[in-house]
Amino acid sequence: MPTISPELLEILVCPVSDCRAKLEQHGDRLVCTRCGLRYPIEQAWPVLIPELAEPPQDREA
Ligand SMILES: [Zn+2]
Repeated sequence: MPTISPELLEILVCPVSDCRAKLEQHGDRLVCTRCGLRYPIEQAWPVLIPELAEPPQDREA
């Protein structure tokens, strides 16, 4: 499983223009703490593109 370093997570925010909240790693996804979009991690690098993100899930797997 890819791991995003805490230092990188500190500076990453949700790219949605009216969100900009912090992200948390959940498995192989980065999940926005506000809007809940789930961004994939490719080659250990987060893909922060809203169009490629999965919608929020009601429950964590
Ligand atoms: Zn967001």
